Amino acid sequence: MSNPAQPKVAALIVAAGRGMRAGGEVPKQYRPLAGQSILSRSLRPFLDHPQVAQVAVVIHPDDRALYDAATTAHARLTEPVAGGDTRQESVRLGLAGLAAGKPDLVLIHDAARPFVTAAVIDRVIAALDDVPGALPAIPVADTLKRGAADGAVTETVPRDGLFGAQTPQGFHFEPIRQAHEAARGQALTDDAAVAEAAGLAVRLVAGDAANIKLTTAEDIAAAEERMESAGETRVGTGYDVHALGPGTAVTLGGVAIPHDGALVGHSDADVALHALTDALLGAIADGDIGVHFPPSDPEWRGAASSRFLAFAVERVLTRGGAIVHLDLAIVAEAPKIGPHRDAMRARIAEICGIDTGRVAVKATTSERLGFLGRGEGIAAIATATIRLPKGSHA
Ligand code: MG
Repeated sequence: MSNPAQPKVAALIVAAGRGMRAGGEVPKQYRPLAGQSILSRSLRPFLDHPQVAQVAVVIHPDDRALYDAATTAHARLTEPVAGGDTRQESVRLGLAGLAAGKPDLVLIHDAARPFVTAAVIDRVIAALDDVPGALPAIPVADTLKRGAADGAVTETVPRDGLFGAQTPQGFHFEPIRQAHEAARGQALTDDAAVAEAAGLAVRLVAGDAANIKLTTAEDIAAAEERMESAGETRVGTGYDVHALGPGTAVTLGGVAIPHDGALVGHSDADVALHALTDALLGAIADGDIGVHFPPSDPEWRGAASSRFLAFAVERVLTRGGAIVHLDLAIVAEAPKIGPHRDAMRARIAEICGIDTGRVAVKATTSERLGFLGRGEGIAAIATATIRLPKGSHA
């Protein structure tokens, strides 16, 4: 390694498989698990890990739109790499894509393992101080039988010293990249096997029984049930007002609407997105929009408010949470909101990485009463309902 004290660690998430065994119309890594895609959940521990400098995903070329939808709320992701026909080929292409960044270490992880923890990642990285390859594994607990095609037991296989392999599997970057190039066309079942074939030493570290690979629809349903029963529901509210001044359009819910005035504010003054941002921050008890984006900071002058909302979404995801529902009410005498309702819902859903069906946009006037009624400004009220895993009170 060029700098053993602080190696540059990249993570490669392998999401190029078709994964249709789990049923449904999209590959399993893009299916929702308690309101957030499996891929999004599998990425998160790497994006949040302080030692991981770069995270890239290998995707099937047909899945670009699914990938974009699953990862809108994830900052720090590098451009995805197009995979190949087999997992091994996809990893080879992914490693080739990472090579320009010259990482010292690479963690190769299956997109279908959304329950990987920082502790498992820590153990794999730590082992790479001493060996070129390491993988998390758990001792085989079941008695193993070898069976014939007719179901007859032919042998009881001693399970001493047998382990089930998990991911992320970690490697010194250049040796595993070369090992994958040398193994082209072979059919090795995991990256550790590729390393072994190249004569690289590989060490086992303690895996995690919860770090399961979701393969079937039953796996996903069972995981969802566990998460739902283990988590808690939180509700946050947000309220915002901006004055109307001279102008030709207002931005509401991320949508520009022609109007004979403009909202006045430091950013683009999108009251709807500001209220939603505060609702999400409220649900995780994490301050408010003014704490994270002080109006005194020139960086936010004229900023698109989608940045504020995406930030709040990311704070929810970082806690392992998922957005269940967003409800927004806009109070304005004009312009008319109704014709723009669905565009706002779609834009808000896109920013938050959730289905449009989880976003409600409603409008009302103030019956010509008060400052809103006189058309001096526009207000928005938002409610966010989220799910947080148990113990996520930080
Ligand atoms: Mg505001």
